[in-house]
Amino acid sequence: MNLVWHRADLRLHDNPALAAALRSGPALGLVVLDPNILSNTSARRRAWFCRNVAALREAYARCGGTLLVRSGLPWEVLPRVVAELGLRRVFAVRNSTPYARFRDRKVEEALPGRVAWFHGQYVQEPGEILKPDGGPYTVFTPYFRRWWAALEGEPLEVPARFPPAALPPEYDPGSLPEESSDVPLPPAGEEAALGALEAFLSDRLPLYHQTRDRLDGSGGSRLSYYFTLGVLSPRLAVRRALRVGGEGARKWVSELAWRDFSGELLHNFPHMARSAFDPRWDGLPWQDDPELFGAWLEGRTGIPVVDAAMRELRATGFLSNRARMVVAQFAVKLALLPWQKCERAFRDLLLDGDNASNLQGWQWAGGLGVDAAPYFRVFNLAAQAQTHDPGGDWLRRWVPESEGRLEPYGRPVLDLEAARRRYLEAAARIARGGPRG
Ligand SMILES: Cc1cc2nc3c(=O)[nH]c(=O)nc-3n(C[C@H](O)[C@H](O)[C@H](O)COP(=O)(O)OP(=O)(O)OC[C@H]3O[C@@H](n4cnc5c(N)ncnc54)[C@H](O)[C@@H]3O)c2cc1C
Repeated sequence: MNLVWHRADLRLHDNPALAAALRSGPALGLVVLDPNILSNTSARRRAWFCRNVAALREAYARCGGTLLVRSGLPWEVLPRVVAELGLRRVFAVRNSTPYARFRDRKVEEALPGRVAWFHGQYVQEPGEILKPDGGPYTVFTPYFRRWWAALEGEPLEVPARFPPAALPPEYDPGSLPEESSDVPLPPAGEEAALGALEAFLSDRLPLYHQTRDRLDGSGGSRLSYYFTLGVLSPRLAVRRALRVGGEGARKWVSELAWRDFSGELLHNFPHMARSAFDPRWDGLPWQDDPELFGAWLEGRTGIPVVDAAMRELRATGFLSNRARMVVAQFAVKLALLPWQKCERAFRDLLLDGDNASNLQGWQWAGGLGVDAAPYFRVFNLAAQAQTHDPGGDWLRRWVPESEGRLEPYGRPVLDLEAARRRYLEAAARIARGGPRG
């Protein structure tokens, strides 16, 4: 009997580790509640994770299988479970964040030669799409060209009934903690995710290229919280979208390529978890001001579009891509808040919070050297609201006290024009390679 260790692949469909394990006989599933991950995140994200593990357990049961749940450090838990049940091998989908690579090395050391790794977190795996000279891409457009050319393969089928896996009668499958969330959670599990994908493909995909930038997020798929935990296979989503075809589909698929590109960047440049992608930008005159940070985080800066976004994020755990760009750029370029602190707090508020995509998003929006985003582009915040929330409904919903006005209200925490000048002067000095500060 074999073991399938699920991590960021909380699904049965198109799961290469599960498909391979079942091809070689009976298999049990396992989720490890790793304190290094779960104690380090917010209650809403723990609750979302646990709901999806519960849904996976039900999916296993429907196929006649069993999903075990254990708490502890994976490199201690896995050898114990393998020994207790006399299991042959462990099958797992590879993850590539710095912690995941450290964790997986420790598990391999504890179970030498008995762990088989598979691709499945991304459409194209980190480390596979390389420049003709063999080096990693740092700019999206040429990466995407190669990513697109390498698209191949159909999603994998997993049998509807698993071969029976006999557990000793007294063996405890383990229980999941009751985690409560401070925001309403979307329906969990792959059936819900696949249903949401189909609804998006038929209703909103055809116009996605025109509607994706809406501040209220109504033009997007809202599937990111399923992709982050691997509840939905990105490869299957790409295949289905391409079958629909059209400009909307091509644009949407390119956004999933951005997700892969984020994984690729963090895989090849792990320093970006701590410092600017281009370390010169670490030299911006950061303002570690707790009051300013609190005002940004709680949506009380007095800048309507920034406050609307942060309030929505706190109240729902979700935010459109446009709104994420706006609040990140405000925090980095105008408030000069230490971006690492903002990125971390922001990730904990997101149900789809993901190290690679969040780091890429922050560093791209903040002009810190990711891709070809120029440092001197600074949003006009009122224009952002006007263009991407033309009726003003989103702004009025989240910041009623601004009374639909686009300009700063109350007592704004920053003079936007002075802040813009301060940033551009400091950034130009750094770009010219002159003295910092
Ligand atoms: C500052 C900032 C932080 C971000 N943090 C995260 C994060 O923690 N987790 C996360 O999943 N995405 C993050 N993103 C990317 C993007 O904003 C979200 O994936 C998207 O808004 C989710 O909405 P959706 O599912 O409707 O996306 P859609 O527009 O429907 O896009 C489809 C899918 O493509 C992926 N995707 C879309 N845009 C991007 C992008 N720019 N980078 C990477 N993947 C993308 C997502 O998986 C998304 O579900 C961040 C972007 C910024 C600017």
